[in-house]
Parts: sequence; C-alpha cells; structure tokens
Amino acid sequence: MNRLVKIIIYILSFSMISYIYASNSAKDQYYKFIELDKKEKKLFSSEKNLKEKAIVELAEKYSVIYKKYPQIKIADDSLFKEASVYERAYRIFLKDNYRLKTIELFKKLVSNYPSSVYADDAIYKIAVIEWEKREGDQAINYLNQLEKLYPNTNYKDKAIILRKEIEKELKGAREVSSVLAVIKNIRHWTGKKYTRVVIDIDRKTNYSYGTLIDPDRLFIDIQPAILTQELIKQKIEVKQGFLQAIRTGQFSKNTGRVVLDFDKIKRFDIFNLDNPYRIVIDIYADERKEISEVVSKEEGVVEKEIPIVQPNKNADGTYSLVRQLGLGIKRIVIDAGHGGKDPGAIGVNGMKEKDISLAIAKQLAEFLKKDGFDVYLTRDEDIYLTLEERTAIANSLEADLFVSIHVNSSKNRRLRGIETYYLNFAVSESEMEVAARENATSEKSVGELQKLIKKIMLNSKIKESMDFASVVHKNIMTAVKKEYDAINLGVKRAPFYVLIGAQMPSILLEVSFISNPVDAKKLCDNEYKLSIVKGIKDGIIEYGEALKGGVNAGL
Ligand SMILES: [Zn+2]
Repeated sequence: MNRLVKIIIYILSFSMISYIYASNSAKDQYYKFIELDKKEKKLFSSEKNLKEKAIVELAEKYSVIYKKYPQIKIADDSLFKEASVYERAYRIFLKDNYRLKTIELFKKLVSNYPSSVYADDAIYKIAVIEWEKREGDQAINYLNQLEKLYPNTNYKDKAIILRKEIEKELKGAREVSSVLAVIKNIRHWTGKKYTRVVIDIDRKTNYSYGTLIDPDRLFIDIQPAILTQELIKQKIEVKQGFLQAIRTGQFSKNTGRVVLDFDKIKRFDIFNLDNPYRIVIDIYADERKEISEVVSKEEGVVEKEIPIVQPNKNADGTYSLVRQLGLGIKRIVIDAGHGGKDPGAIGVNGMKEKDISLAIAKQLAEFLKKDGFDVYLTRDEDIYLTLEERTAIANSLEADLFVSIHVNSSKNRRLRGIETYYLNFAVSESEMEVAARENATSEKSVGELQKLIKKIMLNSKIKESMDFASVVHKNIMTAVKKEYDAINLGVKRAPFYVLIGAQMPSILLEVSFISNPVDAKKLCDNEYKLSIVKGIKDGIIEYGEALKGGVNAGL
C-alpha cells in the first residue's frame, strides 16, 4: 500500500514537472494569457474585499509572458494588460507609484511595439493620466504624439475634446463647471482611535463609499465631481494616530475619489452637512463602548482586587474633587459657541453671542481645572471654528463629556429663560428654530437632518446625553434661581451639527436670551454669569457621581 502511494506521488510529480515545462513553451503562453484574463475579470468583479497584493501579482504574471517571449503574437497584449492592471490599481488606491508604473509601461508598449493595435490607446491613456494630475503641458505633448504617429486612431474625437479642455484651462482660470461639482478641500482631525475627515465641495453631489481590506481602507466616490488643481497636486501625509494617509484623485472622468488608509477600521459613519456642502466621515478603531460597560467593569475590579487607595494630593496639599470622589469622568471638552467671523446672535444691547460664550467657557474651564478635571477648550480666543471641528476635537481627545455653550435668540423679543439641549429629533417649532440658527442653516435643512440623526443614532450617546442634560440643567436652575428671576425652559432636543458624532455624553446650553432686554442685561452682569458657571460645574460633578454609583443612579 505504501509503495503504491509512493508510485502515485512519483507519477503525479513527474506529470507536474512536464506540465510546468509545457506551460513555459511559447505556444502555451496563449492559454496562460486566457487564464490570466479570466482571473482578472474575477478579481475586479467586485471592489469589496479587493486585495492590493492580488492585483500586483496579477500584473506581474502578465509581465512574465512578454518578458520571456517578446516576439510572440500576444507579447504586446500582455504588456498592455500589465499596464492596464496597474492603471486600475492606481485608480482604486490612488497611489502615485502605480500611476508612474502605468505611464512607464504604456510608454514601453509604444516604443517596443509601435505597430501594436494598443499603441494609440497607450498614448491617449497617458495623456489622460497626465491631465488628471494637471500636468497640462505633458498631456498636450502626448496628444501631439498621438496625432503624429497614429493619425487614424479611434481616439481622434476624444483627443480633440481633451485638447480643448486642457487648452482652455491652461489659458486661464478654469471656468466654473456647470455640470461637475468641484472638490475643494479636505480637512482632518485624528486621535489614537478616532478620525474625522471633512470633504468640502462647492455644491451638493452624490457619493458612495466602500472599504478595501488588508490593509484597511475607506474610499469615497463623489459624483459628478472633479478635484481642484491644488488638491490634485497636494500630498496629504498624515501618519499620526490611527489615520495613516489621505489620497485623492479622479476615479473616472466625472468621479472624484478620496482614499483613507488606516490600521484597522472597526466602524464608521458618513454623512453630509449643508451650507456649505460637505461630506463628513467619522472612523473608529474601537467597537462602540457603552459607559455602563466601562463603569461596571471598573467596579468589578475595584471590589475584587484593588484595595481602596487614598487619592494623591494636589500640588497645594489638598485633594482635588475628582480625586476625592473618584468620579467616572475626567476629561471634559468645553466648546465656546461661534467665534471669529461668526458672531452668533447679536443682542439688543449690541453684545455678541461669541463673546459671552467664550467668557463663560473660560471661567467654567478654570473652575473645573481647580477641581482636578482634565479640561480642554475648543477655542480660548476669538477665532472661527467649523461646527464639525468642535466635535472632532472632543472625539480625538477621547473626552468623557462635551459641553457646548451658547446664548439664545428669538424673533419673539419677549421670550427669555434658560434651556439645555441634547442631540435628537426636534419635536417643536421652537426647537427647530434654535437648531436652524445654531447650525447656520434653514429650517428646511434641519428637516433633512432629522433623517441623518436616525441613521447615526446608534453611534451616539443619546440616552446618556439626555441624563447629562437633565442633571446640568437642574443644577443651573438651582444656582441662578436664588438671586435672579431666571425662567426655566427645560431640557430640549434638537439636531445640532456640533453634537453629531460626539462619542461622549454631550449637551448644548442656551444660557438666556440675548434678544430679550431683561436677559441681555443679566448677561452683562458677571455675578449672573458666575452663577451659571457654578451651576454647570455642579451639574458635571453630580453627573460624574451618578456614573460612579452605577448607571443612571440618582438620575
Ligand atoms: Zn449659538
């Protein structure tokens, strides 16, 4: 039996050797080519799970044919195929080395096989690739070559159109396209486990997205759209935290593509915001973590193993409140609403919302720092920040809480009081009005935003934010009621851009109406502002204690 097995193995190995010899003969290259072609179709049948390594391997296999047998009939076919596979790799991953390789191989085809039926294709394709990188002069050179070497090419009409387009742009500023949107800019914020990327586009577009694995990538195709010259030429090196690189390019003539490289993507959200139009991408390296999970896990550990340790003393010899209480929260991001070119609401007495929000935010930060919290301000001076940037800062810092401070305003001058918001669908007209104002958008857009909230609800800490809002609101009302006739407008809900995607309990405070003479006067009073700050601080501490004592305890 053993002997028989050995013989079979011997015969098999012999026939395999002869097969390898046979496949190396020139005539079998044709079959090999057909096989690779089939493989190629299968490989590119779906972009899902497409592996970069497999594409490069395929290209290399094509190259073996013409390198070994440069004179056979399908030598130029295989060279053209190799170049085309690299071109696809370039368009998918937008890596410059694939672009250069594609050009090099197409050039090789033209010089080694000038009478090939693919030679004119190759020149035209190089012209397109050069033009996509806005190398206008280079592109024109190739179009000239095409015209001179292959005057009867099938690409004649296409070449004429391309030439016109290039010359028009080379002559002066590109005309604003009536058909294609322009991808103007890409911004990003990244932490160890989180990245937000914002793509600024000059008008509303369609977009689709997908992931590529090994290594993980996320791509966004924007259509119909082109990239600006600056963006095409710009190399965005990131290599910090969790985001490795951002690449941009044209995936096709009317589709702009953005590729983001990561170590490992666990989840992501993509949504668009209006006015101006932009696509926001939030990517996470972690699964969603519930506060309850964290708290219960930590509690378990404390009970079983870790002895209760006296908290360290502060530099001044006292115990900080955070250390004394061992609160479940440590890092807080405070966001002073508006700033710079955006004054926010303007008061009856000429006061600007941006100044009041900054004054309150700074004082709150000081108070919380004294109590031992780790506090960050999104801005500590009069500068402009976009709404999406503010959340991105809190997420990148892995903050435990996010508090955005604002001052209210209404067409109804008689309206006054204090209200605290958390992110959710708006239900009342007044909530819609506040959301429209704070989002710097129309109430109609707020309506559209409701759909988005539904989509990203799962990734938002809505329940926790509601609890946080209740506790803080209650404390503010307690703090100010004593001396001031403050009106309690309650805890409300609305879709605010600034809270979307926040990974921690987050609230937006509307501390009094700047549009109401009584409230506006109070906002000038430092004591009044101080009592609001005290209220917020007390609320944060109470919320932290409630977390420590178990989920929602005492709420
Ligand atoms: Zn505001």
